[in-house]
Amino acid sequence: MTSIPLVDLVAQYESLKQEFDDALISVASSAAFIGGEQLRLFESEFAAYCGVESAVGVGNGTDALVVTLKALGIGAGDEVITVSHTFTATAEAIITVGALPVFVDIDDDTMLMDTSLIEGAITTQTKAIMPVHMNGQMCDMTHVREIADKHDLLVVEDAAQAHGAKWDGQDVGRLSDAATFSFYPAKNLGAFGDGGAVISRDPNIVARVRNLANHGRTTKYEHDRIGFNSRLDNIQASVLRVKLSRLADWNVLRRAHADRYSDALASANCQLPGIADEAVPVWHIYAVRVDGDREAIRAKMGEQGVSTGVHYPVPLHQQSAYADLGYAPGSLTMTEKVASSIISLPMFPELTDDQIDRVVAVLRSSIG
Ligand SMILES: *Cc1c(COP(=O)(O)O)cnc(C)c1O
Repeated sequence: MTSIPLVDLVAQYESLKQEFDDALISVASSAAFIGGEQLRLFESEFAAYCGVESAVGVGNGTDALVVTLKALGIGAGDEVITVSHTFTATAEAIITVGALPVFVDIDDDTMLMDTSLIEGAITTQTKAIMPVHMNGQMCDMTHVREIADKHDLLVVEDAAQAHGAKWDGQDVGRLSDAATFSFYPAKNLGAFGDGGAVISRDPNIVARVRNLANHGRTTKYEHDRIGFNSRLDNIQASVLRVKLSRLADWNVLRRAHADRYSDALASANCQLPGIADEAVPVWHIYAVRVDGDREAIRAKMGEQGVSTGVHYPVPLHQQSAYADLGYAPGSLTMTEKVASSIISLPMFPELTDDQIDRVVAVLRSSIG
C-alpha cells in the first residue's frame, strides 16, 4: 500500500503540468524576471481574490510581516500583542523591526488567540495587535477590531496560512490595517519557491509597503527611504497565477476533507479542532489533539504509511531564541498544552476519500 503524505505537491504539479510548464517557459523566454507583467497581473488578480484594491508581492511571508510593520511605523520601544502558538516568523518579524512581541494565550477550542486576554496585555507601549490565523481559521476579528478601536491600536493579520478564509462573512484584510500572506510551497497558495504578499485597504499603506520592499525606490535611481530587496519574481508570479485560479475550488475540497475527518473521528479518543460559528476556515492544517505519548502515536501511524506533522511542537516562548523575553514554563498554559498534544493529519486538495478513511482507521488504531 502506498503511503499517504502530509502534503502532496507532486499530485498538484501533475494535475496542472502543462499550464505550469507553459508559464515557466514563457517567463524564461521573455527574460522578464523582476517587476514584469506576470507580477502586475498576479498582484491585481490576488487583490481581486481578497476583495481589495491592490496587493503587493514580496519575497516571502516573513518579509511581508517585516515590511508591513516598518510601513506602519512600528519599531523600537513598541509592543505588539500576538501568540506563541505560531511559526517563528510571526515574532521574528516583530523583533526584526526592533519591537517586542507580547504573547497572549490561545483558546482551548479553536487553538487561536484568546481575544479576551488582549486587553490585559495592553501597556502604554502597545502599538499593534497581530492575530495569527493558524491552520487556516481566522481569529475573532470582530473582537480584535473592537479592542483596537477602543485603545487606538494598529492591527496586522498574519494570514500566512489563511488565503481565502472568512470571519463573519468578512475577508482577510477587511478588519485590519494590513494582512500578510506566505506563498511558501506547502501553503494553500504556494509558489515554486519563496513568495509572499501584503494587502491593505489603505492606499497609503500599500504605497509605503511597495516602496519599502523595493529599496525605498521612488523612481529607478531615486530612493527616499532605506528599504529592503524583497520582491516577488515573475517565475513565482506566473506559477501563482495558475494556482490562484484554482484556489477557491481547492479550499472547498479542503473543507470537505475536514468535514469527513470530523465526522469519522467524532467518537474517537481525540479532540477535534473547534470552529467558531462565524469562521469559514480554509484548513491549511487539520490538527487533532491526543492524550498520551504523541510521538509514539505518530510513529505507529508512520509505520502504517500515514505521514503526520506537528504545527508546532515547541511554542515560541519556550524556544531558546526567545529566552530573553523571560516567559517561564507554564506561563501560557493552553499554548503549552496544545503544542504538546497536536498532530497534523494529511491535508491537501487532492486527498481522496479512501485516503482520509485510511488515515482515520490508522489514527484510531494508533491511539489505542
Ligand atoms: C509560513 C508562515 C510564515 C512565514 O512565511 P514564509 O513565506 O515562510 O516566510 C509566517 N507566519 C505563519 C503563521 C506561517 O505559517
